[in-house]
Amino acid sequence: MAGDKADIIVVGAGVFGLWTARAALARGLRVLVLEAGPTVAHGASGGIVGALAPHMPERWGEKKQFQFEALTALAPAIAAVEAESGLSTGYHRTGRLVPLLDDAARDRAQSRIGDARENWGNAAQMQILPSDAYPEWLDASAAPAGIVHDTLTGRLHPSATCHALAEAIRRAGGIIETDCEVLDVQSGRVKTARGDRFADAIVLAAGVRGFDLLAPHVGEVTGRAEKGQAALLDADLGDIPLIYADGLYLIAHKHGGVAVGATSERQFDGVGTDALLDDVIARARAVSPRIAQAPVLARWAGLRPRANGRDPMLGAVPNAAGVFAALGAFKIGFGIGQKVGEVLLDEITNGTVNMPDSFRVAAHLGRGK
Ligand SMILES: Cc1cc2nc3c(=O)[nH]c(=O)nc-3n(C[C@H](O)[C@H](O)[C@H](O)COP(=O)(O)OP(=O)(O)OC[C@H]3O[C@@H](n4cnc5c(N)ncnc54)[C@H](O)[C@@H]3O)c2cc1C
Repeated sequence: MAGDKADIIVVGAGVFGLWTARAALARGLRVLVLEAGPTVAHGASGGIVGALAPHMPERWGEKKQFQFEALTALAPAIAAVEAESGLSTGYHRTGRLVPLLDDAARDRAQSRIGDARENWGNAAQMQILPSDAYPEWLDASAAPAGIVHDTLTGRLHPSATCHALAEAIRRAGGIIETDCEVLDVQSGRVKTARGDRFADAIVLAAGVRGFDLLAPHVGEVTGRAEKGQAALLDADLGDIPLIYADGLYLIAHKHGGVAVGATSERQFDGVGTDALLDDVIARARAVSPRIAQAPVLARWAGLRPRANGRDPMLGAVPNAAGVFAALGAFKIGFGIGQKVGEVLLDEITNGTVNMPDSFRVAAHLGRGK
C-alpha cells in the first residue's frame, strides 16, 4: 500500500496502535501501521509485566466503568486474536491476591467487598482468604490479616500479545511498515523518513513520542514519560493469581517466568535498568518463597506515556481534521487497549464519542506537568 492511499494510518505499533489497527480492519477499512522501530512493540509495550488489574471498586465513576467494561470484554477479544494469529498472548483471568497487613486494612477490604458486589455485579467477586491460602506463592507472614482475592484481574504477556496482534493484522490484510519513523502529521498526510503516506484518518499512537507529534496542533506538550523497571525470574507456576504487594506486581506467566515490577520514576538519568530494580527484586523475593532464590532471567525498562491529565488521551485532535490521538496509556494500556481501539473506530467511522470527557484531548490542555 506504500504508494496507495489507506483509509487509516496508525502511527506506532504498541498496544494502543495495534488494537486500533485491528478494530479498523474488522470494520472493513484499509489499514497502514507505521512503526519507527525494527519490530512492533518497540516502546513501552515490549515489556514483561502485563497485569490487567481493575481500579478499586469504591467511588465508582465513568473512568472506572470504562476500564471495567474493557477488562470484562478482553477474554473473547484475546481468544479471537489467538485464533486469527495462531499465537499465544499468555492471557488468563488469574485473579489477584493483595495481602492485608493489619485489622484496619481488613476493615477497609470488607467495605470494598460491598462496593465490588455493587459495581462489578455478577461479573467478578472479591473475598478475604486466610493468610496461608497460597503458602508457597505468598508468604503467610507477609499477609498477617489475610489476603484479598478478586476474580476480575488477569494477566497477559505484553510483548507476546503485541506480536499476536501484529500477526492477526497482517493475516487480515493490514500492512505494518517497520523502520518507518513518522516525522510530522497533518490532515490526510503523514511525513515519514521514507516519504509521505496518505489516508483519510490518522491515529497518533506513538507512545511517549506521540506527545511531540501532537504538540504542533495543540500548541503545547501534553504529556511526558514515566520510566518503569521490571525483572523476569526463573520460576514456573502456571495460571496462579498474581500478587500485588508492597506496591509491586508478581506475575507468574503462562509459559514460565515470574515478572516482578515495577518502578515509577518521574525523574531518571538513563533509559536502562539500575539499582532501583535490584530493590524491586529484593522486595518481591521477600513476599514470595517461590522466587526467593530464583535466578534473574531478564531485566527490562520502558517509558510509560503519561498524559498531563493522567487519564488516557483519546479521540479527535483539535485543529487537525481527521487526526486522532491514542495516547496516555500510562499504567493501564494492556487492560484498556482493546476497548480504546473500538471507541476510536466508533468516533472515526461515525462520529460517536463513547468515552469519558476526561479522556478527550481538550481535557489535557493547559494542565502543565
Ligand atoms: C515497567 C513497566 C511495567 C508496566 N506494567 C504494566 C502492566 O502491568 N499492565 C499494563 O496494562 N500496563 C503496564 N505498563 C504500561 C504499558 O506498558 C503502557 O501503558 C503501554 O505499553 C503503552 O502503549 P502505547 O501503545 O501507548 O505506547 P508504546 O508501547 O510506547 O508504543 C508506541 C510505539 O510507537 C513507536 N513510535 C514512536 N515514535 C514513532 C514515530 N515517530 N513514528 C513511528 N512510530 C513511532 C514506538 O517505537 C512504539 O512501538 C507498564 C509499563 C512499564 C514501563
